[in-house]
Amino acid sequence: MEGKLATNTDDKKTTTGEGGGQFKKRDASWPMVLFYVHLNILGFYGIYVLFTSTSLLTIIFTAVLTLLGILGETVGVHRLWAHRTFKANAPLRVFLMICQTLAGQGTIYSRVQAHRLHHAKFRTDEDPYYSNQNFLYAHVRGNLFKYSPQQEELLQKLEMWDIEADSVVMFQKRFYVLLYIVLNVLLPVNTPFQYFGETILGAMFVGFWLRSLIVVNVGNLVNSAHFVWGIHKDFKPSDSNSIFIITKSFWPQFHYLLPNDYQSGEFGDYSQGIGSAMIRVFAALDLATDLRTISSVAVRKGLTQALDTDRPIVECIEEQVKLEENELPANHFLNRNKFM
Ligand SMILES: [Zn+2]
Repeated sequence: MEGKLATNTDDKKTTTGEGGGQFKKRDASWPMVLFYVHLNILGFYGIYVLFTSTSLLTIIFTAVLTLLGILGETVGVHRLWAHRTFKANAPLRVFLMICQTLAGQGTIYSRVQAHRLHHAKFRTDEDPYYSNQNFLYAHVRGNLFKYSPQQEELLQKLEMWDIEADSVVMFQKRFYVLLYIVLNVLLPVNTPFQYFGETILGAMFVGFWLRSLIVVNVGNLVNSAHFVWGIHKDFKPSDSNSIFIITKSFWPQFHYLLPNDYQSGEFGDYSQGIGSAMIRVFAALDLATDLRTISSVAVRKGLTQALDTDRPIVECIEEQVKLEENELPANHFLNRNKFM
């Protein structure tokens, strides 16, 4: 069925080529369906095991790995690799790659590709996570389908040269199965079992399944959180400039229009979240540089210009950001009250 462009007698789907129903149709990915079924049943059983027979050491160890996995998805995949909101040196990229492998959600390459398509085709049929549907679609169902032939074509056209030039990302892509087994299975399961005297039950259900349940759900919020913290899906950002109102408080709409700000959090926050704080810590340690952000002043000036000139909002704000870049000191992240 996949790859065929035509020949369905169903009136709705009898179409050929670009724009056709069959061309856009997504088949179920049965390995993913099976994984999600296991994830939810065994992960929830892990909560019972957690409270009844898991040692404190295993809980602490698993909690640390859980947080690192989330860091790999949010700061790594989303802010560093998908949107290039800052630059990271090799040791930091290796650290974030290891963290991202701990998330067990596929390679950095595939996650970046999917997220870039999500942004490029936001609120259209081609968006792998949205499709003008609801939170559950973006959060769960979108992950259970293969790409449609149309989406496959779009993925090939996406700009990925920066990712392909990143040796750390390409190393992970090449050795992902091995890295997954070592970092996402053996490390979290074998360590408590062999070194903490944990039961195989606790090691398996808490160390792997419960941890995976948490990380996968938090990781999926990167693509679905706009339903929770954003403006209602029928609201058109161009309806009103008021969505920005200087404070950038309607986070998802801000992120989907201007995704290159390192302070745009994944969970409805702006600048206050742990991801933003970690990027500032990395920058203070000289592991991260060139943190890109958009000040309220630039947003305000850009909006005024858009109103005066009738030009697109994003274009006007980005123009202001460019002008501002020369004025912002390199260490602006250390004194945000003064420069934001
Ligand atoms: Zn994004």
